[in-house]
Amino acid sequence: MSNSEQAVEKVVIIGSGPAGWSASIYAARANLDPLTFEGAATEENRLGGTLPLGQLSLTTEVENYAGFPAGKLAEFLRTAIDDSYRPMLEPFDERPHAVTGPELMHLMRQQAKNFGTRIVTDDVVDVDFASRPFTLRTLEGRTHRAQAVIIATGARANYLGLPSETEFKNRGVSACAVCDGALPRFRNQPVVVVGGGDSAVEEATHLTKYASVVHLVHRRGELRASRIMRERAQNHAKIDLVWFHVVDEVMGNDKDGLTAVRIRHAETGATRELPARGMFVAIGHTPNTRFLEGKLDLNDKGHVVWKKAFRTATSVDGVFAAGDVADDRYRQAITSAGTGCMAALDAERWLAERNL
Ligand code: NAP
Repeated sequence: MSNSEQAVEKVVIIGSGPAGWSASIYAARANLDPLTFEGAATEENRLGGTLPLGQLSLTTEVENYAGFPAGKLAEFLRTAIDDSYRPMLEPFDERPHAVTGPELMHLMRQQAKNFGTRIVTDDVVDVDFASRPFTLRTLEGRTHRAQAVIIATGARANYLGLPSETEFKNRGVSACAVCDGALPRFRNQPVVVVGGGDSAVEEATHLTKYASVVHLVHRRGELRASRIMRERAQNHAKIDLVWFHVVDEVMGNDKDGLTAVRIRHAETGATRELPARGMFVAIGHTPNTRFLEGKLDLNDKGHVVWKKAFRTATSVDGVFAAGDVADDRYRQAITSAGTGCMAALDAERWLAERNL
């Protein structure tokens, strides 16, 4: 073990979405010298939707993050972000555009780095929270010790798992209507939403602002969503409820992206095509907490449990959680960033109270 591995960190932050970078910025500015694990750039993470920079790195334009109105961002990005990352960021033309998810994440990462955050491109795969200082083990086989830990590993959207669905991701297939619904490709066009829970109804209702019709495809004959949401879907003139159907195939071509969704009756097996420019999958999210099972309290869906409202403390004293890993309700970039800030402030106070 090298000296750096044996050093006890004041605070380790696990995760590189808005929660992880906001926590890093606040912890760095509080002189806690944070060490942040941004995740490993592995093929397994790519396929699972858990690459560094989180879910936002999988989206296109982000129009609802306060402080980033559409504009000529190219010059700002050229001056704000490390040269080495610039080739990854598109578009780099002079057209005014809203900040994209990858751009926003690189800006946050850079801001954390500017204040001295040390960044490790590796996954934390195991933790020992039973003894102090805590021990963290990484995919590359290194161990690190820390007085306090902030978990900000986020969540990943569940997808149906069809190869054609993967093929049209970002070309019509999305798991976030709030992020992508207003894009020009969906304006006055038919779209499909898959799922029957509150998220599916919320996505469908949101999409009615832009789409010509929203086909809400659900595998059963009754929505799981709460009563008020069910009624909203059933009474909306632009929402077409398609009961007892599952998605069989996503159809399209290179030029137009997604053009139709083939659906199959769950009982008879009969198929038909719904012309559509978009398919929004709203069949739940899975928090990235497998490495935490048995180490601290998780709820029945696997989210880290905050022990008290408006506090980021978890069931293990000195371990804090921020962002979607602990939130299955709001799931917005800006709320994640907010709780990342809270977790850093909570960790700072916790360390100060113990003279650590
Ligand atoms: P959810 O309640 O777990 O619903 C997931 C839906 O997707 C279910 O209708 C399920 O069908 C369907 N589904 C799951 N796997 C599928 C598959 N492979 N193929 C087709 N359909 C599939 O998830 P959610 O809607 O994301 O909600 C998560 C939590 O957040 C809930 O507690 C919800 O109340 C809350 N939430 C609240 C609000 C709000 O209050 N405004 C908004 C959004 C979310 P089945 O019904 O057949 O199981």
